[in-house]
Amino acid sequence: MLMNEGSTSSIPVAEIDPGVRMPMLGFGVYQIPDHAQCVQAVADAIRAGYRLIDTAAAYFNEEAVGAGIARSGVPRESVFVTSKVWVQDAGYAETMKAFKTSLSKLNLDYLDLYLIHQPLGDYWGSWRAMCELKKAGLVRAIGVCNFAPERLADLAIGSGVTPAVNQIEVHPFFQRADELAAMRQLGVQPESWGPFAEGKHGIFANETLCAIGRAHGKTAAQVALRWNLQRGSAVLAKSVKPERMAENLAVCDFELTEEEMRAIAPLDLGVSSFAGHGSVESVRMRHGFKVHE
Ligand code: NAP
Repeated sequence: MLMNEGSTSSIPVAEIDPGVRMPMLGFGVYQIPDHAQCVQAVADAIRAGYRLIDTAAAYFNEEAVGAGIARSGVPRESVFVTSKVWVQDAGYAETMKAFKTSLSKLNLDYLDLYLIHQPLGDYWGSWRAMCELKKAGLVRAIGVCNFAPERLADLAIGSGVTPAVNQIEVHPFFQRADELAAMRQLGVQPESWGPFAEGKHGIFANETLCAIGRAHGKTAAQVALRWNLQRGSAVLAKSVKPERMAENLAVCDFELTEEEMRAIAPLDLGVSSFAGHGSVESVRMRHGFKVHE
């Protein structure tokens, strides 16, 4: 369910679980490994008006995120904090331990959203642990990332607990309309990562996005974010630059017409922009990637 919550800005929120309201536009901290820079970026983002911070054990910056939230001066309850369990910690006992480690690094006593980062390894064991963490009040909502519709449906139906969120790569060059439809059918809130395809395909100078932007006094980046929101997806944007943080936040004061939405549809390439995603080699790489000893 979508609603507006006007305290700091006009960012819409979605009720992803009874009583759990998630901002539809959030700040991501992937690839901000430097501690001081990440603390500052998180504090700047919250002061700019972001109320969702998206981190993960595998980003190696949970301490910095916790310190940035504290530095912002905004009360913890006003910030929606997401973290994720990595493949190395798939399994019931491993996830219980990994969750405690994440909470301690973040210096928080609960998470708003805890996600399975990859559909690999014993994620069913992870899911059982996450259901218990939720029952114990240590996390307000639980979900997954990078789950294809069949795996998502299997987990939701098989466990009897529907993931609140599925975080997947979505941008104008990889639109995934069928996957969004499957999520709607299951009652899972989509959340888009890499909304700028990390700058690939010349997205910021793309003629279609720039032309639409000109009609609204907006940039291609703002059009790409707005497009995601109008398709019902929450969206995560990352920037370490305060002017871009503000730019990416200013997407709730205009609307793309149906014709403009239709003009963006042909940009879809139908494949991930990240080489090898889903290949045998990428699965081997993810299993081999360690977040601790
Ligand atoms: P992204 O948001 O698509 O792109 C970030 C890049 O765009 C950065 O290089 C940033 O540079 C640049 N940028 C940002 N705003 C801009 C603007 N207005 N104009 C021009 N350039 C701009 O990529 P992402 O960080 O991979 O994705 C966003 C978030 O999604 C992540 O931070 C993370 O939280 C999440 N994520 C999740 C998964 C998953 O598997 N669950 C995977 C990837 C990402 P500067 O910082 O220099 O401004």
